[in-house]
Amino acid sequence: MSVIAASSGIAANPARALVCRNCGAEYPLIAQNACYECFAPVEVGYDQAALRAVTRADIEAGPHNIWRYAPLLPAGQDPASRVTVNPGMTPLIKADALAAELGLKTLWVKDDSANPTHSFKDRVVSVALTAAKGLGFSRFACASTGNLANSVAAHGARAGVPSIVFIPYDLEQNKVVTSAVYQGQVVAIEGSYDDVNRLCQELTETDEFEETAFVNVNVRPYYAEGSKTLGYEVAEQLGWRLPQQVVIPMASGELLTKIDKAFTELVEIGLVDDTPWRVFGAQSAGCNPIATALHAGTDQITPVKPTGIAKSLNIGDPAAGPYALEAVRRTGGWMDYVTDDEIRDGIQLLARTTGVFAETAGGVTVAVLKKLVEAGKLDRDAETVVYNTGEGLKTIDAVSAQVGPTHTVRPSLKAAREAGLLG
Ligand SMILES: *Cc1c(COP(=O)(O)O)cnc(C)c1O
Ligand SMILES: [Zn+2]
Repeated sequence: MSVIAASSGIAANPARALVCRNCGAEYPLIAQNACYECFAPVEVGYDQAALRAVTRADIEAGPHNIWRYAPLLPAGQDPASRVTVNPGMTPLIKADALAAELGLKTLWVKDDSANPTHSFKDRVVSVALTAAKGLGFSRFACASTGNLANSVAAHGARAGVPSIVFIPYDLEQNKVVTSAVYQGQVVAIEGSYDDVNRLCQELTETDEFEETAFVNVNVRPYYAEGSKTLGYEVAEQLGWRLPQQVVIPMASGELLTKIDKAFTELVEIGLVDDTPWRVFGAQSAGCNPIATALHAGTDQITPVKPTGIAKSLNIGDPAAGPYALEAVRRTGGWMDYVTDDEIRDGIQLLARTTGVFAETAGGVTVAVLKKLVEAGKLDRDAETVVYNTGEGLKTIDAVSAQVGPTHTVRPSLKAAREAGLLG
């Protein structure tokens, strides 16, 4: 294995099997998302020796995108195999003014709106579709709350592979256009995201969709692994160490669990020191089933019918919810949720103090960050990273009534003076 890798320059795939998250049953690395024994989700398990062989230098020698972490991912070791728009290595911004306003000592914003289709979904789609191509699929698809559809449609266009994306009919107009512009098929379903997801599960079982990879359904285990890169990247950008606190938005809860998995792996394979971290989750009041379960002290997640402006997070029946609860409890973190007005304030607070314009999901996360500081749940002295996962231009209606010109002035010096612009 190492001889071939050394001569070809291509590292081996470290993924070993699909492993049930509940009972530990193992399956080959195929298109499968649930355990045949107990119906729980499966995830990618790795050859620990292969992971431990990876060095910081190996990663640092890689490209300036998520594929620098290919030695820790289940696909894409061969650059020619990648189906990708090359996302990743997005800015980690030291947010001193926001930290001061919130009363935190050290705060960073990980700004994933800087990805090619302007959300963190490019990471998971690149990994899922690279795995899907390797498995022989010839069409790309997804069930989406908006950003995922943007990314699958763009990846299909880049790779020259047909795509078909399924979205709820009541998405923000900008998120419909930013999928449809790539001119794959865009199917608006007259129902909620949870209805869309159920339909897509059923479609994967039909003959007509046999060759179609739904990134978050039949190839979901590979999709989920792409989220790990948001953990790896923060650790590398901090100079190969872990932050003490991270605040993460939750829809299905998958992103949160995979950032935690990334930190765990980095410690296990010796790429960072074993320092404690705490994981915090953010939802909106219109869709808070995971946070509500945490507050109630139960493992039982009761599905909700989502409402509110944070549509990208509106998954009422979150598949990874139990694992998000586990990660937050194990690390001593917490979760909370915020109202639509707090989300709008969160978007504006982040914009005013950092120059980053976030979509509603970012507004949720910043508003929850603020709430957690005020409630004493976050340690003010601990180094904190807050994740912005999407771009404000996609959900511009959220704040278009709140902001506008501060002055409207006729084009003359006299008018400018009268308007107070000269002091
Ligand atoms: C999908 C999405 C999330 C959360 O993803 P999960 O892994 O399902 O929890 C967060 N932010 C944005 C902008 C998203 O599009
Ligand atoms: Zn099982």
